[in-house]
Amino acid sequence: MEKLAIFGGTPVRESKIFYGRQCIEQDDIDAVAETLRGDLITCGPKVEALEKKLCEVTGAKYAVVVANGTAALHLAAMTAGFGEGDEVIVSSITFAASANCILYCGAKPVFADIDPRTYNIDPESVRKLITPKTKGIVAVDFTGQSVEHDALHKICEENGLLLIEDAAHAIGTKYNGRPVGSIADMTCFSFHPVKTVTGGEGGAITTDNEEFYRRLMRLRTHGITRVQSEMAHPTDALWYNEQVELGFNYRMTDFQAALLLSQLNKLPRFSARRKEIVAKYDSVFSKMPEIIVQQEIPQSDTTRHLYILRLNPERLACDRRQFFDALYAENVCPQVHYLPVYWHSYYEKLGYQRGICPNAEDYYNWSMSIPLYYSMTDAEVEDTVRAVKKVVEYYRK
Ligand SMILES: *Cc1c(COP(=O)(O)O)cnc(C)c1O
Repeated sequence: MEKLAIFGGTPVRESKIFYGRQCIEQDDIDAVAETLRGDLITCGPKVEALEKKLCEVTGAKYAVVVANGTAALHLAAMTAGFGEGDEVIVSSITFAASANCILYCGAKPVFADIDPRTYNIDPESVRKLITPKTKGIVAVDFTGQSVEHDALHKICEENGLLLIEDAAHAIGTKYNGRPVGSIADMTCFSFHPVKTVTGGEGGAITTDNEEFYRRLMRLRTHGITRVQSEMAHPTDALWYNEQVELGFNYRMTDFQAALLLSQLNKLPRFSARRKEIVAKYDSVFSKMPEIIVQQEIPQSDTTRHLYILRLNPERLACDRRQFFDALYAENVCPQVHYLPVYWHSYYEKLGYQRGICPNAEDYYNWSMSIPLYYSMTDAEVEDTVRAVKKVVEYYRK
C-alpha cells in the first residue's frame, strides 16, 4: 500500500487543484476591454444584451440581471411577496443565501429534508411541512441537477404556493427537455467565479410573469421607475423619475455583462466537458463500494456544477475529516457543500434544532466535493481519481 502524503508519503500531485475555478480566455478579456472603452460602463447596452441572451438560453420571457446571486434571491423573495408571518419551505443542503433571502423579507425559513439518493429537496418532506402560513418554496438545483419539478409543481398548485428555483448551480441544465429558467415562477442564477459561467460577480432572475418582471426591474434600482403607468404622479417630463417603493442598487456593470455574454457563448462547450468529467468519475466510483455515487432523476439533463464524493461508512475505517485531510494532503483539495443551513450558529440562535432533517445531516457528515471544472486536464482528472483510490485503499475496512 502507498504511504499517504499526510503521513509523509509523496503526494499524487506536486501542485494543488481545488474543487472549482473559472475559465477566462482571450476573447473574454477582449470583450471586457472593449466595453471599458465605451460610453456606458454600468447597466448599459451589454446588460440589456445579456438579458436577451439569458432569455434565449433559458427559454424564459423575461430576464433581470443583477449584481450577484444573493441579490437575485432577495429580489425574487420580495417580489413573491414573502413577509412577516409567512413561512417559506427551503432546501436544507444549500448555500445559506437560499434561506437568508427569506429572512431578509421578515418571513420564516422552514427546512425540508433531502432525498438521500439525489441530495435534492424531497417533495414528500415539503408536503409534510405545509401549514396555513406557507407562502412558497425556495428549491435548489443542488450540484446542477434539476429539482423534481412535476412533484413540486403539483404541491404548489394544490396549496397556492409560489416556487422560486435557486439555479445558482444549474445554468445549462434541462428538465424533461425544458431549460432550467423557464419552469418555476422565478428562477435565480449566480455567476460567481466557481459557477459554470462567470461575470466575476453577477446574478439574474428569469420569469414569464410580466408583473414580476416590472417589479424586479424597479427593485434593482432603488424602487425608482421611469414608466408612467407605474407612477403616482405621472408626467412625460424628460428628467422625471419617481421612487414608488423601497428598492436597492443591485445593478451589474456593463463590463461584467460583456464578460458574461462572452462566457454564455461557451456554455455548450463548458457543459459538455463537465459532463465528460462526471461520466469518468461515475464510471470509476460506481464500481467502488466505499463510495456512494449521486443518483440522477431521468428527467434531468444535468450540467453538473459540483461532483460529490460521499463516503460509505460501512466500508471505510475513517471519518469524513480524516478522508478530507488525507485527500487535501495529496494536493487534490476538496471542499464541503454544504453544512445544513440550520446548523449555522446564526440559525441555531434563531431556535432551529439539530435533527430536523436526518437525511441532510447524514449526507453532510460523509460528503465532500472533488475538483470539477471546465479547464481540468485529463491528467488532472486522472490525478483526482488516483488520489481518491489511494486514500480509499488506505482506509478500506
Ligand atoms: C453561489 C450560490 C448562491 C449565491 O450566489 P452569489 O452570486 O455568490 O451571491 C446562492 N445559492 C446557491 C445554491 C449558490 O451556490
